[in-house]
Amino acid sequence: MERNVYDILILGGGVAGITASVYAKRRNKKVAIIEEMLLGGQLASISEIENFPSYSRVSGFELMENFQKQAKSLNIEVISDTIKKVNFEGEVKSLQGSKAEYFAKSVIIATGLSYKKLGKGEEEFLGRGVSFCAVCDANFYKGKEVCVASKAGSGVHGALILADVAKKVYLLDSEDLTKYASVCPKKNIEIISFADIQKFEGKDVLEKVIYKEGKKKKALEISACFVELGKMPNTKMFEGVLDLDKNGYIKTNEIMETSISKVFACGDIRAGVLKQLVCACSDGAIAGQYA
Ligand SMILES: Cc1cc2nc3c(=O)[nH]c(=O)nc-3n(C[C@H](O)[C@H](O)[C@H](O)COP(=O)(O)OP(=O)(O)OC[C@H]3O[C@@H](n4cnc5c(N)ncnc54)[C@H](O)[C@@H]3O)c2cc1C
Repeated sequence: MERNVYDILILGGGVAGITASVYAKRRNKKVAIIEEMLLGGQLASISEIENFPSYSRVSGFELMENFQKQAKSLNIEVISDTIKKVNFEGEVKSLQGSKAEYFAKSVIIATGLSYKKLGKGEEEFLGRGVSFCAVCDANFYKGKEVCVASKAGSGVHGALILADVAKKVYLLDSEDLTKYASVCPKKNIEIISFADIQKFEGKDVLEKVIYKEGKKKKALEISACFVELGKMPNTKMFEGVLDLDKNGYIKTNEIMETSISKVFACGDIRAGVLKQLVCACSDGAIAGQYA
C-alpha cells in the first residue's frame, strides 16, 4: 500500500503548532496537525490574558476559538491522535500514534509542557483561584491575599512577582525555607516551611487552602493559590533521539531546527528563556517558514 507522505507534520496543536501550520500552509505545503486533545493547547486553561499583542484583555477560550477559526479557514487538516513513538531516521520521518502511523518529509514538534501538580484537587479550581503561572496571572489579584505552593524554593520567584501586586503572599513550602528569608525581603511575604498542603476548598471559587504544619492542621483564607512547582516538558519520547538541555527541553538553532535535519521544535517545548504565547507564536512562524 502506498504511504500518505505529508510535506510537514506538526505534532501538537497549541498556539505554536497552529501558527506553524498557518505559515506552512501559506507556502502551499501538504501539512497536518496531530493533536490529542483540543486545538489550542494551554489556552484552554487560561482565564484571562493581558499580554497578547492587539488585545488589552482576552479570555483564553476566545483566543483559542480565534486560532481554531483561522486554522479552519485555511483548511488545515487536524488529525486527532496521540503520538507515542517517533522514528526520525531516513528522509521520511514516521510518527506512531495510537490510531495510525503517519509519515512526513519534515516534522515540527510543538508538544508544549505540563505544569507539575500537587495532586490535591487543585485542578478543580483552575482559573477560579488556582493558577500555575504567577507571571501570567498575578495582576488579577491586586490588593488580595494569596498563597504560593512551593517545593524546595520553587515558588520563591513567583512569590516575589506576586508581592508587587498582592496585599499579602503566604509562601507555603514543603521543605525548610528559612534560608530564603533574605531573598524574600518584601514585608508582605510570609514564609511557612514544612507546609504539607492537604486540600483546596471553596464554593464557586477558591476560598481556603488546608495544610498541615507538623501535626497541626491549619486553614489559610486566600483569594488565590499559585502552584509553582515547576514545569515538565513533554519530551519523554525524544530522550536519546534529539539533543535536549539539562531540563529536558529541545535544543534548536535559530530556524528552530533540532539536532536532526528536517525535525523542528517550537513553543514551550523548545529550550528558550520565556514561555509565553507571543514567543510560542514567533517560534511557530519560524518553524512553519523553514520546515
Ligand atoms: C494557567 C496559565 C496561564 C497562562 N497565562 C499566560 C498569559 O497570560 N500570557 C501568555 O503569554 N502566556 C500565558 N501562559 C503560557 C502560554 O499558555 C504558553 O506559553 C503557550 O500556550 C504555549 O503554547 P505551545 O503551543 O508551545 O504549547 P501547548 O499550548 O502546551 O500545546 C501543546 C499541545 O500538544 C499536544 N500534545 C502534547 N503531546 C502530544 C502527543 N504525544 N500527541 C498529540 N498531541 C500532543 C497537547 O495536547 C497540546 O494541545 C499561561 C499558561 C498557563 C498554563
